[in-house]
Amino acid sequence: MIRRALACACALAWATAAWAADTAANGATRCTYSTSQWDVVRRAPSHGQAIDKPYAAVTADERDPADPRCSVCREDQVRIEPARLGWPHVAPFQVCAIYAADVRTALQTVASSGGFRIEEVVGYRVGRTRGPIVDGLRTQWSNHSFGAALDINARHNGLYGSCDIPAVSREALASCKLRVGGPWDPTKRPNTTITAASSLYRAFHRFWRWGGEIAGGTRDMMHFSPSGY
Ligand SMILES: [Zn+2]
Repeated sequence: MIRRALACACALAWATAAWAADTAANGATRCTYSTSQWDVVRRAPSHGQAIDKPYAAVTADERDPADPRCSVCREDQVRIEPARLGWPHVAPFQVCAIYAADVRTALQTVASSGGFRIEEVVGYRVGRTRGPIVDGLRTQWSNHSFGAALDINARHNGLYGSCDIPAVSREALASCKLRVGGPWDPTKRPNTTITAASSLYRAFHRFWRWGGEIAGGTRDMMHFSPSGY
């Protein structure tokens, strides 16, 4: 029993040491990022801050708990250029380096399979937008903070809260509250609305989960990430 406990402690120490790295994914020795906290009363970002510190000083809190190779640092992100992947009108965005290859492949797959039109993608965006509220401000990083999430076509794939529905449909979502983005209506806008039958879903669901299918009171129809949250 003791030996097993020691072995676990060693493994953890090794893993932590392995990610107490001096350089970012792009080789930089600094970590820079701009961050804010979501003000739940004003419904807007607040307390903006620009950080510039040695990469070696990145804390465990600044790393993705699901995969410490992703952090809030710009230097751990890779720029994705949709224009080179079949989407000339879509602006560049950033994702954590470890997801860049999968995201590029998915964008190319959707472009070549047709039937879905990507208009806008938001990836890396640092901010404390979830978790407990203290003094009207959210306190935990979103998965976008680590470059481990994408929002696609927010105008037609809103984030709904206060949901108590077994599955997604336009009728069911009408009982939820639209909090961010525009209403979800695949009948009205079949080419830009994400559904489980869309080519976009199939391409991204190969490696990530969709925020439309997560358990709980939120349906984040624009959102893909490793956990769906
Ligand atoms: Zn999102």
